[in-house]
Amino acid sequence: MKHLFLIFLMNLLHQYAGKSLRRDGSSLKSFEDIKNEIAGYTDIAKAIIDLAVHGKAQNRSYERLAVFADTIGPRLSGSKNLEAAIKYMFSALQKDGLENVHLEPVKVPHWERGEEFAVMLEPRNHSIAILGLGNSIATPPEGIIAEVIVVASFDELRARAQEAKGKIVVYNEPFISYGETVQYRLQGAVEAAKVGAVASLIRSIASFSIHSPHTGGQSYQPDVPQIPTACITVEDAEMMSRMSLRGTKIVVHLRMGAKTYPDSLSFNTVAEIVGSKYPEQVVLVSGHLDSWDVGQGAMDDGGGSFISWEALSLIKDLGLRPKRTLRLVLWTGEEQGGVGAKQYYQLHKENISNFDIVMESDEGTFQPSGLGFSGSAEARDIVKEIMTLLQPINVTDVYDPADGTDIAYWMRDGVPGASLYNDISKYFWFHHSQGDTMTVQDPNQMNLCAAVWTVVSYVIADMEDMLPRV
Ligand SMILES: [Zn+2]
Repeated sequence: MKHLFLIFLMNLLHQYAGKSLRRDGSSLKSFEDIKNEIAGYTDIAKAIIDLAVHGKAQNRSYERLAVFADTIGPRLSGSKNLEAAIKYMFSALQKDGLENVHLEPVKVPHWERGEEFAVMLEPRNHSIAILGLGNSIATPPEGIIAEVIVVASFDELRARAQEAKGKIVVYNEPFISYGETVQYRLQGAVEAAKVGAVASLIRSIASFSIHSPHTGGQSYQPDVPQIPTACITVEDAEMMSRMSLRGTKIVVHLRMGAKTYPDSLSFNTVAEIVGSKYPEQVVLVSGHLDSWDVGQGAMDDGGGSFISWEALSLIKDLGLRPKRTLRLVLWTGEEQGGVGAKQYYQLHKENISNFDIVMESDEGTFQPSGLGFSGSAEARDIVKEIMTLLQPINVTDVYDPADGTDIAYWMRDGVPGASLYNDISKYFWFHHSQGDTMTVQDPNQMNLCAAVWTVVSYVIADMEDMLPRV
């Protein structure tokens, strides 16, 4: 009898094992149920991978990007090129048969570098390769001729503040990581102006250099005088550092014709596959369409934009329609501080409860190894399980956190976020330089990136429940 009761109890326990009850009494799926639900996507994931990596869509995102990048070129905020890029994408997405293709207007900054040069006059004549930094003011038309002070850090600059007055500050900061070292590009002009410098030249934020200047954003501060600022090559920064350590006097002639125009009209470019069951709920995939005005913007962020487009194309080609809406957004004005994304957030945040996940690929489309993810522990476990579907291409890791200027607002407010995790060892060789061209991109790597992006976005968009939030 006792034995029978035990069996009865065991049965009862088994029945409820893994089921948890919500406070309102409705049953919550156990993780085992979710695992089974995800395992049900094994064949679809294989079909996506086959189509993207081996099948008819093989190399498509690369080839589409090549035509786009070769036709349009670089796409600086406020430029004719960016306008042409948006028109190009609007019609390409329509031709691709995607739904709700539309443009959402955004006012973006319009800065142009104009003509610029720097020449070393002393100790010898030498042409210094420069790229003016975004938002920099011009020099007077005749330029600035001044002696150089070379420093390796902000601390050194402050310690030698007396020497810096009336000079051009050259920063020769070592590259530690982009996040850390980029402070010199962002604030170099302000810090130099605070100690009375007349211009600043900043060693490019690059992990490798073949005499390439790397541009990027910088900003002034309201109470600090604005001085012209440009980046120089690692090679020239190091040479001037060696010269100054030997006590050699360096004089540079800097001329920059940069101009800031009134903000101009631009657009976030949007396309969708409308959800079959919960069309109001959204899985967002994205990259930014604008770039700096050098190279082709193929890597930053042509790659991310085109694998995001590819995700919708692959799903459409397979005749799939997820339960939720899969939305492609190609942001504008990212390089000027995420201007397009900020406006998008402000316009759409009232629907935040319907945003299942926001995804952005903006750190290259090289060999992928997984996904960066930000969200609750429960959501992370679900995403880890989804990544097992990518075992056929061995891209299954989940890293913490997700990264992406354009999705940051949503993640800050608790929406799960994901970014593509790939081999960025060469990313800062090319970033924001003339070297960011199609030559950097690899079709096989883009196929793999597209497969990862598509499987993740499709499965999340099609699962019965949205990802749990914090
Ligand atoms: Zn970017």
